[in-house]
Amino acid sequence: VIKVEGLRKSFGSHVVLKDIDFTVMPGEVVTIIGASGSGKSTLLRCINLLEIPDAGHVWFHGKDLAAQHVDVNKLREKIGMVFQGFNLFNNMNVLDNCTLAPVTLKKMDKAEAESVAMGHLRSVGLEEFAKADVNTLSGGQKQRVAIARALCMRPDLMLFDEPTSALDPEIVGEVLGVMRDLAKDGMTMVVVTHEMDFAKNVSDKVVFMDQGVIAEEGSPKQMFTSPKHPRTREFLSRYL
Ligand code: ATP
Ligand code: MG
Repeated sequence: VIKVEGLRKSFGSHVVLKDIDFTVMPGEVVTIIGASGSGKSTLLRCINLLEIPDAGHVWFHGKDLAAQHVDVNKLREKIGMVFQGFNLFNNMNVLDNCTLAPVTLKKMDKAEAESVAMGHLRSVGLEEFAKADVNTLSGGQKQRVAIARALCMRPDLMLFDEPTSALDPEIVGEVLGVMRDLAKDGMTMVVVTHEMDFAKNVSDKVVFMDQGVIAEEGSPKQMFTSPKHPRTREFLSRYL
């Protein structure tokens, strides 16, 4: 689905991504782990062009997104993104949050958009909150709305940037559960997370980033039982 080649990104003189090569296959769940500042968010943001790469290629369904004349809006319709901070429209109810983009960007008929949205709200367990004001929801509920909203665009790829980091520990599980269901349904996902259990048990591939490079990647089994890179070992030892 995604193939990143030789991706570089600097902010001023600070090189944040150094020659990243990264591939995500259809249906694959890839988790990205690594210390703060290692470039995880910047990599995700380069994939959906929230940041413009300085060099390299980002192939999405065979199209190079780093090339000129790419229709960024068309692309974003196909890539869903869920952030740490929810990024919901707080002045709208749950259902309107979910139907806004399909109706305005995809010109979907309102009734159809609502029926699609209700289906996704049901799958994240929030059907009865459809008419609720977003402000009245808990963090875990907001994040589940954010996931349902992204799914309403029928994305081919879902990007998650620390979706549970802002949540109280006792509600992290409800969001991870929704993500696990999504993975089971075959959604292609890239997940930046500090939830090592999720990385270990749900993902197909774990990528460890260190100072702007992919220091090591492998199956969860290999990464968690026999990491090769000393930095991976050091990083993972903090979670044991
Ligand atoms: P965290 O775990 O804290 O979220 P991260 O791995 O996601 O970290 P990034 O957010 O990708 O790291 O940031 C990598 C580096 O790039 C950091 O040193 C950060 O300060 C810097 N950086 C990120 N975005 C910008 C920006 N817009 N302008 C300048 N520097 C930036
Ligand atoms: Mg980050």
